[in-house]
Amino acid sequence: MPTRSYDVLIIGSGFAGAATAFHLSRSPSFSGSICIVEQEKTPGAHASGRNAALLLQSVEDPGIRKLAVASRAAYGDLRERIGFQEVGSLLLGRAEQLEAVREPNLLAGELLSPEQAVEKVPLLRGHRFDGALLTPSDGVIDNWALLSFYLEEARARGVELITDCEVVSLETGSTFRVETSRGTFETHRLVNAGGAWVSRIAGWAGSDSQMHRPLKRHLFVLDGVHGMAEDQPFVWNLDQELYFRPESGGLLFSMCDEEAVSHFEENVSDGASEALAEKILKTLPTFSEAKIRRVWACLRTHASDHRFTIGWDPNVEGLFWVAGLGGHGMGCSWEVGRLAAASFLGEESSPFSCR
Ligand SMILES: Cc1cc2nc3c(=O)[nH]c(=O)nc-3n(C[C@H](O)[C@H](O)[C@H](O)COP(=O)(O)OP(=O)(O)OC[C@H]3O[C@@H](n4cnc5c(N)ncnc54)[C@H](O)[C@@H]3O)c2cc1C
Repeated sequence: MPTRSYDVLIIGSGFAGAATAFHLSRSPSFSGSICIVEQEKTPGAHASGRNAALLLQSVEDPGIRKLAVASRAAYGDLRERIGFQEVGSLLLGRAEQLEAVREPNLLAGELLSPEQAVEKVPLLRGHRFDGALLTPSDGVIDNWALLSFYLEEARARGVELITDCEVVSLETGSTFRVETSRGTFETHRLVNAGGAWVSRIAGWAGSDSQMHRPLKRHLFVLDGVHGMAEDQPFVWNLDQELYFRPESGGLLFSMCDEEAVSHFEENVSDGASEALAEKILKTLPTFSEAKIRRVWACLRTHASDHRFTIGWDPNVEGLFWVAGLGGHGMGCSWEVGRLAAASFLGEESSPFSCR
């Protein structure tokens, strides 16, 4: 098979790779060929297609918060296409925790007493928390619809997407020579958007293979918990580390677990259901009849300082990172892709550059 050459080769078709391709291909200052290679048969087979689908703007890192707020503004114009439901969020916690995520100049929110919060979500009756922050402009997005939007728009502007194409090794030199399960590719500019696999890709390219780490998290769909309507805000308890929202007649629930993995394993861990039962017993009396309908696990990837990594590699010429999106990669994807494209083109300096 002859070697294929592209001006830009993106590894990974999750939100990082898809949103970067979308913005780069629509930029008037970019001309050239772009190809995305994806090891799976379909895009979004990992974190991007299997996450909790929450758009949460009140996050602790002020830089990430800005990206979330700017992304939210863009989603407002795409409601139908991306299945955005503006149900709001209710963050629960101690006063200092709520203050740490609140930025009234940037984002409208309302501090509530526990009684006022229970009025909004009666299912919280009997659950102990000090206070709440209601953010009406948060919501839930259809992951598949948003990912398909980026990819379809990018493809319509000539971006090629090759699935079932695993990068297995890289050679650096005057160009990158990229060996895949579907032959050899050549490019001067390589984008590492490999999600949980970014460190492995970085290692092949001779860059820092220690900066990012994948952590496993479980999601459950519960039956037998009644009383939360589809239009009520999703609930996230910062203090007790759990969140939930309505999902196809039941509740989607996370106990915010983080488990180190050694081989990118996304299986359900032994003891996950018992840990869930224990958490529910301790914290949520109205969930006592809960039954697990479905459980799955996937990987969130963080840099050691928990900041995103968006920018050129300081040591490997031509290598660009869009990585470490942790638990906010879907909600922030619009701005992540916009910033990645602008920084790639030298139009903006990234506050999340490689450390
Ligand atoms: C349980 C859970 C809940 C979450 N909930 C939310 C939420 O509610 N809201 C939110 O905003 N975010 C949430 N997230 C985070 C969000 O899912 C991620 O930040 C985002 O999906 C990361 O996107 P990505 O493109 O970096 O990674 P991925 O989606 O993993 O995409 C990377 C892609 O690269 C491909 N790839 C890797 N190596 C190779 C290779 N060698 N060759 C070819 N292809 C390769 C992979 O197959 C994969 O498809 C959650 C994450 C988890 C795990």
